[in-house]
Amino acid sequence: MTGTRRSELEAGLQRTQERVRTACRSAGRDPDEVTLVVVTKFFPASDVVALVELGVRDIGESRDQEARAKVAELTALLPPERMPRVHFIGQVQTNKAGSVASYADVVHALDRERLATALDRGSGRLERRLDVLIQVDCGAGGDSGRGGVAPAELRHLATAVAQREHLRLRGVMAVAPRDADPEDAFALLADLAAQVRSEHPQACWISAGMSGDLEAAVRRGATHLRVGTAILGSRPSHR
Ligand SMILES: *Cc1c(COP(=O)(O)O)cnc(C)c1O
Repeated sequence: MTGTRRSELEAGLQRTQERVRTACRSAGRDPDEVTLVVVTKFFPASDVVALVELGVRDIGESRDQEARAKVAELTALLPPERMPRVHFIGQVQTNKAGSVASYADVVHALDRERLATALDRGSGRLERRLDVLIQVDCGAGGDSGRGGVAPAELRHLATAVAQREHLRLRGVMAVAPRDADPEDAFALLADLAAQVRSEHPQACWISAGMSGDLEAAVRRGATHLRVGTAILGSRPSHR
């Protein structure tokens, strides 16, 4: 870890935390309600260690193989009480569910019942209970191209997830469609989140907002922001 890299990370983190504070202030929200998940995919464990030293408690990863190896490295590098919570924010292939359930604390992109079954089995085997969010497709016509269950299917899937012994339904997640105003998508997500919460009171998390649209997400009630580029810089494009 060079001093330069550490300063870059510190500057990116401070800038982002300031954006979050400003967005919370204009929305009349308490910044303590908003968790910043720092998306470290494609970046080395040494960056995560530096971020943890700067106070980061939550990291996001999106590919099983990379995430599993990085968590193993972090376990060797950090004392247990400093291990960050690991949020798996990418799509989960059903055959990777057992692996993801072994190191993730939260899965953000649950989008089908089969995956709920596989994650439940994986965390049950380890006698864990995994926090999960249902990813909803908030594009116009229920097709944003960014993944997730159609809004019309959400209620059914929420009920199915809530019945699993080794999963804990915590809320909903979305990625804004590329070609539309993110605020429209996040407004829809907020409505859907309220519907889920009315039947599952503990499901009060809303994961929305990335480097480019975190202000809109905060305005629309996001409790978890997933921010990579604004903190770590641009990711290598081919890997
Ligand atoms: C990579 C990723 C992010 C982070 O995006 P940035 O634009 O780098 O902040 C957030 N959410 C998901 C689902 C991602 O895959």
